[in-house]
Amino acid sequence: MSYDTQPKASHFIDGAYVEDTSGTPIPVIYPATGKQIATVYAATPAIVDQALAAAHRAQKAWGAMTGTERGRILRRAADMMRERNHDLSVLETFDTGKPYQETIAVDATSGADALEYFGGLAGSLTGEHIQLGEDWVYTRREPLGVCVGIGAWNYPTQIACWKGAPALACGNAMVFKPSEMTPLCALKVAEILHEAGLPAGIYNVIQGFGEVGASLVTDPRVAKVSLTGSVPTGKKVYSAAAAQMKHVTMELGGKSPLLIFDDADLENAVGGAILGNFYSSGQVCSNGTRVFVQKGIKEAFLKRLSERLSTAVIGDPMDEATNFGPMVSEKQMKIVLDYIEKGENEGARRVTGGKRLERDGFYLQPTVFADVTDDMTIAREEIFGPVMAVLDFTTEDEAITRANATEFGLSAGVFTRDLSRAHRVIAALEAGSCFINSYNDAPVEAPFGGTKMSGVGRENSKAAINHYSELKSVYVRMGDVEAPF
Ligand code: NAD
Repeated sequence: MSYDTQPKASHFIDGAYVEDTSGTPIPVIYPATGKQIATVYAATPAIVDQALAAAHRAQKAWGAMTGTERGRILRRAADMMRERNHDLSVLETFDTGKPYQETIAVDATSGADALEYFGGLAGSLTGEHIQLGEDWVYTRREPLGVCVGIGAWNYPTQIACWKGAPALACGNAMVFKPSEMTPLCALKVAEILHEAGLPAGIYNVIQGFGEVGASLVTDPRVAKVSLTGSVPTGKKVYSAAAAQMKHVTMELGGKSPLLIFDDADLENAVGGAILGNFYSSGQVCSNGTRVFVQKGIKEAFLKRLSERLSTAVIGDPMDEATNFGPMVSEKQMKIVLDYIEKGENEGARRVTGGKRLERDGFYLQPTVFADVTDDMTIAREEIFGPVMAVLDFTTEDEAITRANATEFGLSAGVFTRDLSRAHRVIAALEAGSCFINSYNDAPVEAPFGGTKMSGVGRENSKAAINHYSELKSVYVRMGDVEAPF
């Protein structure tokens, strides 16, 4: 397939592509072949400054526009993303290696959903009026100013939009730094927003490794940082932001539990476990990677799971029939292979998979371990790859206690036909984004985010508005001021 993967330039600043080849080169590798498909250059301090200065300069006028005017631009961009879904999906597949069958369905489309949703909300953002006798208080919902978005590599288009759309709807400007692993897609988001009429400087994209992200976080012009990434990075970014009392949203990692009770619909439970472990080759933060299966259904579950996994179509991600692609990078593949080895060494039973595929690119087999116990490394640490750990349980209380025995708290799911149990169990699980008889749905209308070490704040839904704006409270006195002296 011939497709131009080299972007026009590395950065998008102040409404235009900007190049500066004096930065560290960042090779862009297509995970399905291991071949380099583009080069971008990390932002130098001068580029970082240019982007922040442009955002800072442009934000006031953007924030002063009516929400309806801002929303119209976001909604136009959403339509353009949908019209260009094919090209954006091909690019997403080059950037991440995820199968086109997935990217055509979820990436640019969920980005467009965010632009449409927050574009729609922009015109109805208000403060409130609080009557106090003849005096009153009114509140103004004001933008924060310049917001920084820092992305992970698993959903580069979606993350660029999930952060950009609410930020812009609220009247902020954004400087977005994609992951160095997947630098291509966010540039297209910036390009489309500007074609849709976004004023220059409101949405900027600069490339770079962690140090570029760190320099954005500490810049005094920045009011807020939203990070999608790992817990160790989250700790660094959160504490750097705290030093200047900046607002933060932290979308971090997880090791989420999925509880499958004896009375569950077996096919649906297997389907949920597959979606929650093998979609995007397991590179999803909210994955339910600790699958607790009640003893009565365990063997039937493992049998159907193995049967269905054997029908996975692993291959060229651009082939529309492929539904399981490579890992994003050689490094990530090696991390996952190490975990697989630990699973074997610590005594888990490998039911299926476990090997690298003998072909170009970074392909692993979908892997399932059974008889996993709570103390094993593969039950405690986030693997971020296609490795499912199946643990047995007997009682509901036991499953809840064990499910909560983790520092993470991103997601949780339960499969059961007993509705009261479903709600009772979900209420007891310590997680931000939960599922009953389903897994990993993430509609823009629903709040998304984690508890405990999995994060702070929420993306999507009306809740995101609170994380991209603040309230000014104004007391208005109608009578005389009574002072003590
Ligand atoms: P990562 O933490 O290595 O990097 C994330 C981003 O942070 C990258 O853009 C990186 O360049 C930047 N960065 C690194 N060090 C930094 C620093 N000191 N200051 C500022 N920025 C810095 O994560 P990753 O490997 O790209 O992504 C995988 C992780 O992301 C997993 O843990 C996964 O669970 C998590 N994730 C979470 C969500 C969510 O919504 N909760 C979604 C996707 C991925």
